[in-house]
Amino acid sequence: MSNAAPSADLRSPSPNSSSPTICENEVECTKPALVTCHHCPKRLCLKHVLEHNEINIVRTYSLSDEINCLTHLLSKLDCQQSVDNARKHLDTWKENILADIENTYQHYSKEIDELQTELNQRVDIFKDSQKSKMSILQTQLAALQKVGEISQHVTNDFLCF
Ligand SMILES: [Zn+2]
Ligand SMILES: [Zn+2]
Repeated sequence: MSNAAPSADLRSPSPNSSSPTICENEVECTKPALVTCHHCPKRLCLKHVLEHNEINIVRTYSLSDEINCLTHLLSKLDCQQSVDNARKHLDTWKENILADIENTYQHYSKEIDELQTELNQRVDIFKDSQKSKMSILQTQLAALQKVGEISQHVTNDFLCF
């Protein structure tokens, strides 16, 4: 447990120390550390700082690709949301219009039913009154015919004498 720690402590840079430190590269390097890397807090030799720079450049490319990908995804996501909102608005408009049409239809359908009932009642009343008028006329006509027959009999009887 105490084997690795002391050597790492020895290699860590001391800010107040003027003595040159050695390169802190991941793979053992014995060259003197000249600069501090920008991407990690290690002090490195010239060769290894160039290597770290190379890694940094590669990382920036992959990060840039990732950002582009995410930006594209984000723009597509916004588009989809706009399309969904527009569709929702259109659907709501259609539902409202259909509900209005249904309400108007029900209103006038009820009115037609009421008019039909009233019309049927009036027609029935008219038919009944016409029937009773016809019946009276028939009775009167029958009475007239009877009177005619009687006078015919009377005439015949008179002629026979
Ligand atoms: Zn580094
Ligand atoms: Zn080195």
